[in-house]
Amino acid sequence: MRRIQRSIIIGFIITGLLSYCQFSKKYAEPIALRLVSPETPLSKSSDQFYRKIRPLIDTMNSWMVLERPIRVIIKENEEPIYDPQSRTIIMGLDPIYEAKEMLPGSEYSVLSILLFHELGHALIHELNIMELTNQEIMADTFATVFAIESFDNPKMVYEYALFLDKMPRDLSIEALWSEHRLDQQRYFDAICLLYGSETFPKVQTLVPNEWMRDNGQRCTEDYPIIVDSWYEAISVALKSSVKTYP
Ligand SMILES: [Zn+2]
Repeated sequence: MRRIQRSIIIGFIITGLLSYCQFSKKYAEPIALRLVSPETPLSKSSDQFYRKIRPLIDTMNSWMVLERPIRVIIKENEEPIYDPQSRTIIMGLDPIYEAKEMLPGSEYSVLSILLFHELGHALIHELNIMELTNQEIMADTFATVFAIESFDNPKMVYEYALFLDKMPRDLSIEALWSEHRLDQQRYFDAICLLYGSETFPKVQTLVPNEWMRDNGQRCTEDYPIIVDSWYEAISVALKSSVKTYP
């Protein structure tokens, strides 16, 4: 009888060890993003952006884990993009410098939102999230909701919207063909989500009364549905301690 008990206990221990080994193998590093050191030294101002990205990534890694972490590389003179083949977010700094020039003080908000936008693309690929609309709209929506809900930083979205509004109006055929929405459309998309979140009353100063009359209710009703949908879609990547977030 005692031998049977011992066998059962040993069996439990072996099963536990095996599942732990499997978990460790599956999540060799319990993180979602790995910041890669720049191949060539960055300029002083770009290095400041690199230093700013590091704590953002540390925070995201404390919330999320992916089976294979996504690499993040900072590059000067490039636009931000996610490359699904190499599973790399290339965090191009061009728009960040644009923000620094056009709306000084907004550059860190723009940097953060654009990083979250590329993370949105990465999560759509890594978690096979169904695309119910243009992926660029999905990534924009994710970035905005992530900043408001997870980072609890609606001001970041507000400053990003102000930056979009400062961008030169571009109605060229290339801009109309692009999979991205026009900057002014992205501006109103960000405002709609921020307004709907009811976290930043100052957003109301950015839009005329007619806009509020025509869109306010829709934005307020849609916002919680969008938040729930996104967090449901990424729940598999959220660490257990934040499973119920937001
Ligand atoms: Zn994109």
